[in-house]
Amino acid sequence: MTAAPPSILPEIEPEPNTVIDRLVISLFIIVPLLAVLAAVPVAWRFGLSWRNVVIAFAFYLVSGLGISMGFHRHFTHGSFKAARPLRLGLGIAGSLALEGPLLVWVADHRRHHKYSDRIGDPHSPWRFGTGPGAVARGFLWAHMGWMLDRNRTSQRRFCPDLQADSTASWVSQTFPVWAAVSLLAPALIGGLWTMSLAGALAAFFWAGLVRVALLHHVTWSVNSVCHLFGRREFQSRDMSTNNAWLAIPSFGESWHNLHHADPTCARHGVLRGQVDICARVTRWAELLGLAWDVRWPDERRLRQKMTSVAQSRRFSGMTSDRLARSRARADRPDSKPVAP
Ligand SMILES: [Zn+2]
Ligand SMILES: [Zn+2]
Repeated sequence: MTAAPPSILPEIEPEPNTVIDRLVISLFIIVPLLAVLAAVPVAWRFGLSWRNVVIAFAFYLVSGLGISMGFHRHFTHGSFKAARPLRLGLGIAGSLALEGPLLVWVADHRRHHKYSDRIGDPHSPWRFGTGPGAVARGFLWAHMGWMLDRNRTSQRRFCPDLQADSTASWVSQTFPVWAAVSLLAPALIGGLWTMSLAGALAAFFWAGLVRVALLHHVTWSVNSVCHLFGRREFQSRDMSTNNAWLAIPSFGESWHNLHHADPTCARHGVLRGQVDICARVTRWAELLGLAWDVRWPDERRLRQKMTSVAQSRRFSGMTSDRLARSRARADRPDSKPVAP
């Protein structure tokens, strides 16, 4: 007997999330959030050393790129292919964000793209309607509430490719280890740096809990804010928007309207001036030979999708056409290489 093709499998697992599962998820949401609420009184009472800022920034950078470049653009959408060490590194780095195991994240996100602001989308802010009360409730649902839903997205249906992949499934199964590392490694570094228990506790608080909470709410704002407020510069079949003010903390993920208009594109901030840190790091990985088959923006295709909001805007330097032209120039024996 052969296995059923993924397309006829149910989209929701028959076994719902248990009470224990939902309790654990609640703790992952609430405890870091409480740390953020306590941050001002704690800073007032004990101060915030530059040491803890450095450790927190480093962990934010690694875990944030792990989510944007790893979980999202590489594993969910296949925007580029990656050498095994990079693939493994991105999977582990994304797990440090404490946003759940890799395969759970990918399955939910692929279901989001399949239904995007329609029935079946796990986290649309338009779920309850368009009135002010319904939108306020929808905002909270899209931001956090959906994670406590009893329904579990089927991984067999939405990510059989990653279930069959030894690196991705191993990273996903070992999530509890990376969750512990994410909270304890900052404490260890802080303790060794100051050679004190107080230093370990302070680093655990700032670079563990507060850093996790900040990244949580930036990622979740892409689900909530970037389907509610902002500019619609490209045609997509949903309510996704671009938000410049979230571009740097989200590593470029807040150019979410472009992302829904062209989900496999490796750069989301495709217009001139739209900062996309994740795309820049992907370009470095490509130049180092660690990433290839990168799906850089296709200007001709995207121009057809532009709305009147973006008609006069120009594209950023990193599009497939421009990179190909600069490669061709660099290959000519009489010319110097041109940086994109
Ligand atoms: Zn979306
Ligand atoms: Zn996506």
